This record gives sequence, structure tokens and C-alpha cells, in this order.
Amino acid sequence: MSAATPILALKAVSQTYRLARQSLFAPRPTLTVLDGIDFDVRAGEAVGLVGESGSGKTTLTRMLTGVERPRGGEVLFDGADVWAMDAPARAGFRRAVQMVLQNPRSSLDPRMRVGTSLLEPLRSLRIGGDHLARIHEVLDQVGLSRSALERFPHEFSGGQLQRIAIARALMPNPRVLIADEPVSALDVSIQAQVLNLLKDLVRDLGLGLVFIAHDLSVVAYTTSRVSVMSSGRIVEVGRPLDLFTAPRAEATQSLVGAVLRVETGLAGNALD
Ligand code: ADP
Ligand code: MG
Repeated sequence: MSAATPILALKAVSQTYRLARQSLFAPRPTLTVLDGIDFDVRAGEAVGLVGESGSGKTTLTRMLTGVERPRGGEVLFDGADVWAMDAPARAGFRRAVQMVLQNPRSSLDPRMRVGTSLLEPLRSLRIGGDHLARIHEVLDQVGLSRSALERFPHEFSGGQLQRIAIARALMPNPRVLIADEPVSALDVSIQAQVLNLLKDLVRDLGLGLVFIAHDLSVVAYTTSRVSVMSSGRIVEVGRPLDLFTAPRAEATQSLVGAVLRVETGLAGNALD
């Protein structure tokens, strides 16, 4: 496998949902949610996905993680069709591609100690080995102390909970992390810490990262290549700086306009 081969790729992926009938005998209308999507991520690469609410970003993550089968096109893992894999290959794929929980405050079980929550992916994916050693390794990677294991979610701040969510996603030793709006609920000052952690993980572990947000400046800080979605299509792909300075698609222009309106400005690191 050459270094240039994407770990994960969508080729001409499309998805439609059937909606409820308008009347008893009317045909069920369909909604095209993804339309001819090409998308990929390589090892050690952070790619961004932006677009207005309802443009299809979360549906795209469901294709990347293999929880939903596309109506058309292919989902490729190391170049192999995910939906044509035998059981062992599919198990490898499921381990290798992990989602970061979007809102850990509501998605982590409040009655479960953090240590138990971290073990859960290993149990459900039937991963053996020294689980305690793995937990300690992952806590070090996300900058949490071992005392976190005995504590409950309500004892942590929003930023710490997001570290726990990232730790949980790292437990199966994935090759790709998918983070769907991971910092939208956090204060701006805390956002930067979480974004820096994700950048460090991409660099230090050689992970592929798919980073999704509706805020272009947050994506620009974190990623080197950004796809812009609108109504189920990718309408523009570019380097963050190029999207900011010379947006071509209408959807990109309105995202840039939104950033300028709230005067967030362009984060310095986006330029490197
Ligand atoms: P985003 O994450 O960009 O906000 P989504 O992928 O969640 O967008 O949704 C894209 C579109 O698909 C929306 O119009 C949404 O209402 C619709 N949609 C998502 N899931 C379903 C479903 N299971 N059935 C019908 N429509 C859906
Ligand atoms: Mg979404």
C-alpha cells in the first residue's frame, strides 16, 4: 500500500431518504442527502468538512464509519470496498475508524465511571490485551491524569469531557478519527486547547482526522484541506487560506461572510 493511498475514501457516494407520503395514494417523495460525493483522508492528514446545517455532513460521517450503506458509489478502506468485505476485514475497519462523541456531557453515561466508559469500546469491539495499560497510555496521550478513571462525568469541565471523548475514540487504536462538531459547545478559550490536542494527535500518532464544523475559522486552524458542502454536494475543495481569501462557490462565500461578521478573524496557525 503506497503512502499516497487514502486510508478511507468515498467514491461518487450518494444517499437518498424516503420521506412520508403527502397523501394516502401519493408516491413517497425522496430526499437526496448525498449526491456524488468524492472524499478521502490519508495517514497524518487532517481534512475539514464545512457546510450549513442540513447540508449532509453528519450523513457523510455515517458513510465513512460504515454504519449506513450508501445507495450509490463506494466506501473504500485501504482501497477495499467496505460493503464487500469478509467479517475479519470488516472488524478491522470498524476498529480503525472511530467517531469522537459530539456532546460528551449528554452522551457519556452519567452513572458510569470514566474508566468504565473508556473500556466500553474494547468490550464491544472484542479487543483483547492489557486493557489497563492501554487506558494509561491513552490518558497520557490526551493529557488526563489517572485519577480521572474513578470519577464520574459530572465532576469534569466541558474541555476535560471532550478529552475523555477523544480518549474513548482512541482506545481501539484507530487510524482515522472523525470529529463531528467537537468543539461547538465549548467556550472559545477551551476550544483552542481541544483543537491543539487533535492537531498533536494527528502529528504524533500519524492519525487521519476528519474534522467537521460549521465555523470555517475553527476548521482552518485544524486542517490542511477543506471540503465545502451544500445541499448534499461538495461544491469546493481547497486549502483553508485559499477558501478564505478567494472563495469560489456561493456556499463558501457565505461561510466566509459569516466568519467576518462575527469578527472571529483567521487563526494564525492556519497559514503554516
Ligand atoms: P448536517 O450534519 O450537515 O447538519 P445531516 O447529514 O444531519 O446534515 O442532514 C442532511 C439532510 O438529511 C437534512 O435535510 C436532514 O433533515 C436529512 N436527514 C438526515 N437523516 C435523515 C433520515 N434518517 N431520514 C430522513 N431525512 C434525514
Ligand atoms: Mg450534523
